[in-house]
Amino acid sequence: ATMDYWQRYRSIPIVYRIGVAFVLGSVFGLLVGQPATRLQPVGDLFVRLLSMLIVPIIVFTLLMGARRLSPSNLGKIGGQVVLVYAATSAIAVAIGLGVANLIDPGSGLQLGDAEAQTAEAPDIVEVILGIVPENPIGAMANGDVLPTIFFVVVFGLALALVQQETDSDDIRSGVEAFYDLAEAGAEAMFKVVWGVMEYGVVGVFALMAAVFGEAGADAIVPFALLILTLALAVTAHIVLVHLGAIVTLLVGESPTGFLRGGRDALITALSIRSSSGTLPVTMSNADENLQVEEEVYSFSLPLGATINMDGTALYQGVAAIFAANLVGVQLGLAEQFTVVAVAVLASVGAAGVPGTGLIMLTLVLTQLGLPLEVVGFVAGVDPILDRMRTMTNISGDLAVTTLVAKWNDAVDFTGGTWTPGDGEWA
Ligand code: ASP
Repeated sequence: ATMDYWQRYRSIPIVYRIGVAFVLGSVFGLLVGQPATRLQPVGDLFVRLLSMLIVPIIVFTLLMGARRLSPSNLGKIGGQVVLVYAATSAIAVAIGLGVANLIDPGSGLQLGDAEAQTAEAPDIVEVILGIVPENPIGAMANGDVLPTIFFVVVFGLALALVQQETDSDDIRSGVEAFYDLAEAGAEAMFKVVWGVMEYGVVGVFALMAAVFGEAGADAIVPFALLILTLALAVTAHIVLVHLGAIVTLLVGESPTGFLRGGRDALITALSIRSSSGTLPVTMSNADENLQVEEEVYSFSLPLGATINMDGTALYQGVAAIFAANLVGVQLGLAEQFTVVAVAVLASVGAAGVPGTGLIMLTLVLTQLGLPLEVVGFVAGVDPILDRMRTMTNISGDLAVTTLVAKWNDAVDFTGGTWTPGDGEWA
């Protein structure tokens, strides 16, 4: 009979099991309070297990993608990806500003004198130089995504050239061996993703318990309007831009199919607050459910986890209005444009890890001449805001990936609409 329960449990799609753990963990944290924070390591284990998969999945899938890529193809796909990423991020900030202007969060609140951590504006030259690794193994060892992409793409294109030009059977079969290895390696890593997700049920419970054990209801209530504003704004952005404009109009597919296809990645993002950490799940959903080819997603998704942050950019708009309201000033049109520019540029250089959006806020506030204390003021509820941002970031990465895949004939729509695969471990 025990076996029976276990099988019944396992037959429930992982996204629902994690969803229940998410809710129960939150309630548990609110009820138990501070002691619940001791569960943190149980949750951290989930994040570590996912992080472990990032570099191998990027390397294996990029090598597979390179098999079908020519340099000119890569240039085209790359250009499209970057352009649409930038456009959607700018729209996101505008939506954030719009919704915040309507709801006006922050008026009536008293700014405390909390300390703010500040960020340096990223140096554009440094960012660009940083794309090229001094040492590819070093980049992989540090988990630096952009230089890893750079090296593996160069290596993959070179493999393809060697394959075309060589007269030697040994070299040809050597190249084939690389491809076969990459293919098997990627399959194996995707398998591990689903094993890790099984543990995620426990991990997410612990993560949520720890967050709400720390924050507690008293700490959250004063910020309810800010949380609500962000929730409405990200919902508007996901529904109008990702589901409406991109998936429905431009890709011509069903928005519910898209959500079902990407649901594991979306709930993981909501749970762990990190685009990079979610990457293995995002890639698995793109590959197995949304049927995108490696040549697009192996490149666009790691890139997106680093440079495309719709939710994070949108939050800058919301937070700017919130900060202005706190100190009782109005942001003019020119200032709101400044927010768009700074937020889009800063989200390119920022890493997809927890709390990035909060640090970025210091740049935006500095540009606007608003007090940096606001950052410390909202830090307590950032774990809640951050998960909405991160989920939106992932939704944007996946939507743009399917669009560029459609433009390049690299997505398989046969079998009607997108569906979740079985995503099974063992
Ligand atoms: N945590 C977000 C991410 O990883 C970044 C942010 O803080 O907004 O995508």
